[in-house]
Amino acid sequence: MTTHMKINKVSIVIPVYNEQESLPELIRRTEAACKKLSVAYEILLIDDGSSDDSAAMLTAAAEALDSHIVALLLNRNYGQHSAIMAGFSHVTGDLVVTLDADLQNPPEEITRLVEVAAQGYDVVGTVRQNRQDSWFRRRASSMINSLIQRTTGKAISDYGCMLRAYRRHIIDAMLHCHERSTFIPILANTFARKTIEIPVMHAEREFGDSKYSLMKLVNLMYNLITCLTTMPLRMLSVIGSIIALLGFACSLILIMLRLFFGSHWAAEGVFMLFAVLFIFIGAQFIGMGLLGEYIGRIYTDVRARPRYFIQRVVSQNRLSSQQERQ
Ligand code: UDP
Ligand code: MG
Repeated sequence: MTTHMKINKVSIVIPVYNEQESLPELIRRTEAACKKLSVAYEILLIDDGSSDDSAAMLTAAAEALDSHIVALLLNRNYGQHSAIMAGFSHVTGDLVVTLDADLQNPPEEITRLVEVAAQGYDVVGTVRQNRQDSWFRRRASSMINSLIQRTTGKAISDYGCMLRAYRRHIIDAMLHCHERSTFIPILANTFARKTIEIPVMHAEREFGDSKYSLMKLVNLMYNLITCLTTMPLRMLSVIGSIIALLGFACSLILIMLRLFFGSHWAAEGVFMLFAVLFIFIGAQFIGMGLLGEYIGRIYTDVRARPRYFIQRVVSQNRLSSQQERQ
């Protein structure tokens, strides 16, 4: 059963970093797509410390008469996800759609995202159909996506695509998370009850180059993993236990074979040394894993995500006491 939920206002959030060539077309096409919606809308463009004309162009667009555009200018470059978070802190709509400024996500898809969200979904994700990125990016991305699917068991197939819609309560929950390194689609999913994925088109980047260098991509990947799980820390003790057990089994076998075939067989104890070494290496890994468990818990506490998030309180008493107060 799908419960239809009324959407009164849609907020579009777009991070912008040195995208002056794309901006005119982006604004034109996004406004055209929003006009087709039968609800109120606003378009938040966040300038992430651009060094080109982007900030000036956004300011001009926001100052125009009857403009639906809100420009947020950050003082320096903080990265795509921080810029989007800054946008979230200023939205007024009850459905928020994020997309990239480089027109790789066609703004025309906004209409469909809003329609699907109205069927009662908390998060509407997207899968890029004909992904137009370099071979290296596509491979890396599909590897990470399948890894996540296997570890979480959740059928989300494209975490990298930022063309997504979030309901207001999901945004509020995300704003209560205090970690500095975030990966928004993952964070949103930890708070969502009902999610869906729809296929969307993907276009080639027309102007400029990707704003992600190799180092920034590596950083992004680690943000994604640490945002999702502390599992890698636990893997240390798992790997350690396996190595230690293998070392132990190996030394048992060696001892037996040594008794059987005599001392010259076992290379005068060299094999045995290795077996003992493996046991010690394994023990060290287990120790690191133990430290990892503490670090994981410290990390969870430090980022201070809300323990729970109440979406709505329904109570006869509360309703009447509220009415009394009014
Ligand atoms: N972006 C940003 N800050 C950054 C890097 C990127 O706001 O430090 C924005 C950029 O302007 C674009 C979006 O994030 O709107 C996605 O960036 P890009 O297209 O370069 O990434 P890719 O498509 O290569 O993943
Ligand atoms: Mg792009």
